[in-house]
Amino acid sequence: MSTLWVLGAGQLGAMLKQAGTPLGIDVRPVDIEATDELPLQANDIVTAEREEWPETVATKQLATHNNFVNLATFPQLADRLTQKQWLDRLDLATAPWFPVEADSSAQHAYDTLGERVLMKRRRGGYDGKGQYWLKQAENSEIPDDWKGQAIAEQAINFDEEVSLVGVRSKDGEKYFYPLTLNLHINGILYASISPLKRLDQYQSKAETMLGKLMDALDYVGVMAMECFRVGDDLLINELAPRVHNSGHWTQAGSNVCQFENHVRAVMGLPLVSAEIKNQSMMVNLIGVDLDYQWLSIPSLELYWYQKDVRAGRKVGHLNFCTGNLTVLETALDRLNMPAPYPQAIEWLKANLPA
Ligand code: ATP
Ligand code: MG
Repeated sequence: MSTLWVLGAGQLGAMLKQAGTPLGIDVRPVDIEATDELPLQANDIVTAEREEWPETVATKQLATHNNFVNLATFPQLADRLTQKQWLDRLDLATAPWFPVEADSSAQHAYDTLGERVLMKRRRGGYDGKGQYWLKQAENSEIPDDWKGQAIAEQAINFDEEVSLVGVRSKDGEKYFYPLTLNLHINGILYASISPLKRLDQYQSKAETMLGKLMDALDYVGVMAMECFRVGDDLLINELAPRVHNSGHWTQAGSNVCQFENHVRAVMGLPLVSAEIKNQSMMVNLIGVDLDYQWLSIPSLELYWYQKDVRAGRKVGHLNFCTGNLTVLETALDRLNMPAPYPQAIEWLKANLPA
């Protein structure tokens, strides 16, 4: 079997490697700052754990390999401008928007999008970084260094945020996990739950939307679609051409997790409809220290990324999966974590099936 190289050596690369191991696939995440000559073979496969990258010794070697799956798609989706253009072209619902140009004014934003407008930098934003609110009530103006560098989006008064993770093979075969309900606090994902019966009614609509996009891009592998649910409508917030944080629960809650599905798809291995086990939930560890006492909590699985702990930084996640809802509630009661976790824990309790 050929080697699977991953551009990027963060937690997503590590979890792809972990998923490849039982399949006998040598998955090698590559630090983008690495300077070694990589022993790339002609029949190896290349994928990425991030949607954009600087040109370095390592990324140049990987990006010039003939088997870099989805290479042309990354720049299309990494730039929010071209991503939004794809959505409009395919007639996929998204928050109303316009490109912020050199001569764009805040007044134009208020006139066309309403009194609260969210600017997002075209590139490099994540976890709510690279966002700037324009508020008419505060007479906000567009800072010069956002002109030509951002899109402006209508503030969506959503009911909740959901995401769909899907996988597509080279032949266009597609499978999807059940919709995931997500809680973001200050633009960063804190918690997810899936599956939820009450979201079933949006499943086929969401699959049609993401499927249309994957087909149009002739995409191979796992892609994630973040949506706002507004009444019965789904508006696409953003797309990620990679495994995604809101799919981490599948490590505990499915016989084929999102990481294995991505490895299977890019390596040309068979895909199947994954079995979903019981009830899952996921809690991101953001700026909190490792606490091995978590391991005494039934149904909990710990993923610690071995990164230095800094405020606002994702340093791990906790997955929970069991058919016994009382076990989940007890687990949440035992998570003794600082603000804003009490809010996330209450949200999980409120959204678990009764
Ligand atoms: P990620 O880490 O998922 O890549 P990000 O920082 O790139 O996130 P978005 O997903 O676009 O950026 O936004 C982060 C969060 O900010 C969303 O999940 C949502 O809670 C909020 N948000 C984004 N766009 C809007 C909008 N138009 N109206 C209201 N809230 C929004
Ligand atoms: Mg997002």
